[in-house]
Amino acid sequence: MKRVAVVGAGVAGVASAYLLCRAGYAVTLVDRNQGPALGASRANGAQLSYAYGDALGSPSLLRHLPHILLRRDPAYRVQLQTDPEFLIWGLRFLAECLPTRSLANTQHLLKLAFATRRLLEDVLVEFDLSFDYQVSGKMILYSTAKAFAAGAAVHRLKQSMGIRQEVLDRSEATAIEPALTLYPDSIDRVVYSPDDAAGRPDRFCTGLVDGLVRRYGLRTLFGEEVRGIQSCKGRVTGLSFSTCEQLDCDLVVATTGAALDILPWTDRPVGGIWPVQGYSMTAAASPAAMRVSITDLKRKLVFARLGDDVRIAGLADIGAARPRFSDERFDMFRSASIEAFGGAFEHKVGEIGAWSGARPCTPSSRPIIRPGRMKGLYLNLGHGTLGWTLCLGSAQFLLDLVATA
Ligand SMILES: Cc1cc2nc3c(=O)[nH]c(=O)nc-3n(C[C@H](O)[C@H](O)[C@H](O)COP(=O)(O)OP(=O)(O)OC[C@H]3O[C@@H](n4cnc5c(N)ncnc54)[C@H](O)[C@@H]3O)c2cc1C
Repeated sequence: MKRVAVVGAGVAGVASAYLLCRAGYAVTLVDRNQGPALGASRANGAQLSYAYGDALGSPSLLRHLPHILLRRDPAYRVQLQTDPEFLIWGLRFLAECLPTRSLANTQHLLKLAFATRRLLEDVLVEFDLSFDYQVSGKMILYSTAKAFAAGAAVHRLKQSMGIRQEVLDRSEATAIEPALTLYPDSIDRVVYSPDDAAGRPDRFCTGLVDGLVRRYGLRTLFGEEVRGIQSCKGRVTGLSFSTCEQLDCDLVVATTGAALDILPWTDRPVGGIWPVQGYSMTAAASPAAMRVSITDLKRKLVFARLGDDVRIAGLADIGAARPRFSDERFDMFRSASIEAFGGAFEHKVGEIGAWSGARPCTPSSRPIIRPGRMKGLYLNLGHGTLGWTLCLGSAQFLLDLVATA
């Protein structure tokens, strides 16, 4: 039985461990944190946006860029850096905003998202997981006809792929989701995807890891930082750590999000991944809270119902290589959330769970899933704004590579 070490226990690593265990590999899941999902996967927007899947780089974002650089859109903040990695990433990102590239990237992401949806059904049959999962649908609010028209090409692509979406006016959408009455601004159109879902990624990861330990004998090594990948004659032989003994293995899967430092130089994607910081808050739902996930495109905020809570996520801050929590940015985010749907959740300071994380973004928004130059090394990184939605589909892509090597 081949021994695989999966480094990184976020959604990408846990999903990879699941499919590798199921395929008969002897898997050890390693993370420097004390448990699974304590990085970018911890308290993200919680949306399994199977029908969204839009690449971050798009023609409309490119048109909006002067606005963003002049700080006229509070949802974004760009701090230009002189780091060559950032400059290469930025130039590659701009190229991916071209219409044909952006549509091809979106199509790729939608396929991965679709695969996640199918594989999640297998997980739910095999394991009894409790993560406030609900197929509650998702609504995207377009405030103007111009904003809706800007998304027309993507909408057509989704129709051509057979993705179920309906275009509704405000009253039709409110009949499905009464919480829209709380929204203070005009809504020109609502795109409703009834098959989209939401669930807590951290509880999914901890529950699935427990299940894999019991069912497949998954080994875990938490609280240990991997320093490097050991090799002999260009082939993986193990992992080295800062504080514990080497772990011998035949294959290594790097699911380290935005952290590339364990990879040999020859395998680091140049300008390949840059962190894009975001914020979330989790607050008790009011009786008027939404059931359907809602994306407020005007403020770039997402709202999801998680049991008795509402999870809100937003902001995209690009620049710092090691982002830190900013009280000023969080306050701005909290105010915008209250402005949009303040009637849906308890929002007194002290009653909300505040969190910030960094999306590991590639210029194209496509995750990097490929074998390394070192034999036995595989990468499954850079899931950007949609890692929760893409995790199982990406893991299947990875398993196909591992199995056919
Ligand atoms: C504000 C926000 C909202 C979001 N909303 C959504 C959403 O609604 N839907 C959606 O689909 N996606 C969403 N995302 C994106 C999603 O959260 C990420 O794409 C996803 O979490 C990335 O998962 P990952 O497993 O690749 O990375 P991570 O979860 O960061 O996992 C990587 C792990 O690798 C470990 N690691 C790194 N280096 C080492 C080392 N040397 N040794 C040991 N361990 C190491 C880290 O400790 C970490 O635990 C959001 C992200 C943010 C920030």
